[in-house]
Amino acid sequence: MTSSDTTATPALVWFRDDLRVRDNPALRAALAHGPTVALYVLDEESPGIRPLGGAARWWLHHALEDLAASLGQLGVPLVLRRGTAAAVVPDVAAKAHAGYVAWNRRYGGPERRADTAVKSVVRRAGREAESFQASLLHEPWDVLTQQGTGYKVFTPFWKEVSGRDHRHPLPVPRPQREAPEHVPSGDDLGAWALLPRDPDWSGPLAEAWTPGEEAGLALLKDFVGPDTADTAVALYPDERDLPDRAGTSRLSPYLRWGHVSPFQVWHAVADRRRAAPEGSAVFASELGWREFAWHTLYHHADLASENLRREFDAYPWWLPHAGRGGAHDAAHGRAHGAPPAVVLGDREANRLLDAWRRGRTGFPMVDAGQRELWATGWMHNRVRMVSASLLVKNLGIHWRLGERWFWDTLVDADPASNPFNWQWVAGSGADAAPFFRIFNPRTQAAKFDPQGAYARAWIPELGTDEYPDECVDLGESRAEALEAYRSLGAAP
Ligand code: FAD
Repeated sequence: MTSSDTTATPALVWFRDDLRVRDNPALRAALAHGPTVALYVLDEESPGIRPLGGAARWWLHHALEDLAASLGQLGVPLVLRRGTAAAVVPDVAAKAHAGYVAWNRRYGGPERRADTAVKSVVRRAGREAESFQASLLHEPWDVLTQQGTGYKVFTPFWKEVSGRDHRHPLPVPRPQREAPEHVPSGDDLGAWALLPRDPDWSGPLAEAWTPGEEAGLALLKDFVGPDTADTAVALYPDERDLPDRAGTSRLSPYLRWGHVSPFQVWHAVADRRRAAPEGSAVFASELGWREFAWHTLYHHADLASENLRREFDAYPWWLPHAGRGGAHDAAHGRAHGAPPAVVLGDREANRLLDAWRRGRTGFPMVDAGQRELWATGWMHNRVRMVSASLLVKNLGIHWRLGERWFWDTLVDADPASNPFNWQWVAGSGADAAPFFRIFNPRTQAAKFDPQGAYARAWIPELGTDEYPDECVDLGESRAEALEAYRSLGAAP
């Protein structure tokens, strides 16, 4: 498009969980229309959209700085605005004189409702609005069983998805030649106060991570390495369960924020099929679990608040104000059948929940994981499973409380993967771990941290009087959990 091209239409591209300039179909489409302005909306007001947790806010601040710099190199100004998307996007489009508005699709229920509202207001104002597929290999409504429903089991889902063709990633667009004439004013990023203050706990996060597109692509490049058999992807099947090794890609926050796209990851890994046949297949299937989590969220928008297997509604998990006899959160107004809260039970449960959050349960693998999470905003997958299992199965605390803690503390906190995996561990989810498979944190540590290197790295007082005793009897609590499960009358 050149300045002499009379068909050029000023365009607006609305960024969301796709904070990258490469492989970004909405950005390319906007640039193809004409002089483009970019927009990011901090939307904490549209009904049902979950406010970001603390670690995610920290990440977002830096991610937006990174995006503004990359867009700047393309001559595209980034406007920041706070408010309800359905009000802000049409307003910015009007002020930018944009005839065309583009974005990449989201798949959560409230997000889709917000996007539908934006689309209709934009179109009513006589502007074109178009959305694109960018953050999943396949749209959740395109992958259906023969009965026309969403998949409930991972293996057939992934067989179907991985057998399809996935488009190749799009290159970085060329800088725009014509600067947009009308650039609406926006907010100052600092004024959003996304960074923690008093206290500023973000030091260790900043040591662990560089939010942004270049850093994400560099990690991907390191992980797949050259086409040889000694790369991280080749060693992945052997090393991915060992939390003291750099055996996994650590790409999760980059995928969460869309600095890196699943198409880029899929093709980078597929290119290593010759030298790392097993590693590339196992790793690709992890990308498949991400797709499956989003697929499940699309088909069950209340994944973060409701058991997918409704028989678990009767499981006596503890929630504040519900007591051990009823697993319903008073905040959701669903306390049917729950006896009044038992004060001592509440106090005990709060004590256990607190010990779990702080990494003081007396189980080194869990405590190391919880401390790693608090410090760096990330926890190794194996440890996430063991830690979540202790909370929901041995301590009898509702998975929703664990999910909320992770939501607040993870830099990769994801509206699909987080509740999906919590429900998977709890047994109430899609294709979940069978309930009776209760992780034993001691056995898991012996298997996956045999020298105790991971535990020692995060628990300096390990082996001294300062380290707490185990907070629960594993055998007794396991038996209680199995008894409670049997009483549901649920199929094994
Ligand atoms: P790798 O092993 O390198 O895997 C590559 C990518 O595959 C990951 O970056 C991730 O995008 C995806 N992936 C891997 N495992 C899973 C999985 N089980 N479910 C979905 N996607 C997966 N992941 C999140 O991205 N956000 C979350 O909020 C989240 N919450 C979790 C909560 C619990 C209780 C558990 C057990 C797991 C959770 N996971 C979550 C999944 C998984 O633990 C992380 O994706 C993984 O640890 C990230 O590390 P990595 O990038 O090095 O993974």
